[in-house]
Amino acid sequence: ATPMSIMVGTGRAAQLGVLFRKGEALQLLRDAKVVAFDKTGTLTEGRPALTDFILDDDFEHDEVLALVAAVERRSEHPIALAIVTGAETAGMVLPEVESFASEPGRGVSATVGGRKVEIGSERMFAGQELADFNTARLAAEGKTPVFAAIDGKLAAAIVVADQVKPTSKAVIAALHALGIETAMISGDNRQTAEAIARQLGIDRVEAEVLPAEKLTAIKALREQFGTIAYVGDGINDAPALAEADIGIAVGSGTDAAIESADVVLLDGDLRKVATALTLSRATLRNIH
Ligand code: ADP
Ligand code: MG
Repeated sequence: ATPMSIMVGTGRAAQLGVLFRKGEALQLLRDAKVVAFDKTGTLTEGRPALTDFILDDDFEHDEVLALVAAVERRSEHPIALAIVTGAETAGMVLPEVESFASEPGRGVSATVGGRKVEIGSERMFAGQELADFNTARLAAEGKTPVFAAIDGKLAAAIVVADQVKPTSKAVIAALHALGIETAMISGDNRQTAEAIARQLGIDRVEAEVLPAEKLTAIKALREQFGTIAYVGDGINDAPALAEADIGIAVGSGTDAAIESADVVLLDGDLRKVATALTLSRATLRNIH
């Protein structure tokens, strides 16, 4: 394409709230075959709330919630914030924790008053009796269950729910109308991710993906479909934004996201992804 047409295209995009940080991105976007989205904070608001607390009979509700929230206070994960807010809303005073450790994409652990507290995904408690907590029904509604163990014994399933953004369904439909394959890549558990994908009409789901594995998921989608755009908020997914042919960071994303992205959407309105694609095709029509 001529430098002039790219300038016109990126200028027009900027007026619409789509910032192209590199001119090549406009050309790459025109050729996109698949658009993959991060789930938490991108397709969803990223501000989950505590909805269910399913306790094992051997434990006491307030004690478990206080221990779990005390540990989660040290984490910056949206799930952690939901749990801490839930405990604080109930007026709980949270104890101090020691030797806090975080495993990205899995969970957190610490010692609280001499007791070992672990909270995290199904994967963190592999081989243990998680089925007793009956979380499958909640996950099928798109809610996220995490599990807590005290001194090595499963104590509770804690369930949080995040709202889908009002524009998510529309952008998927708009991309399909443009002939684009859609995908979701999420660290969340499979049933939850699939429930959200189904609500939105997304074609394929990669779930239970560890932060480091998001790159592999991007490469696999590229192998299968061709030029790939990845849309993320930059929390845990800056490497995926960088790996994709076109990395699109959604507004109010982190600095890391903006650094790693080729395109920045100035607000959280995901429909701008389809706008950008349409614009790239219109600007570069008949130019190779
Ligand atoms: P996402 O791709 O949805 O942002 P992450 O990779 O951040 O997911 O996390 C994946 C999963 O790891 C979460 O769904 C949860 O089960 C678990 N997890 C991560 N951090 C925490 C935490 N602080 N407390 C509880 N569970 C956590
Ligand atoms: Mg995210």
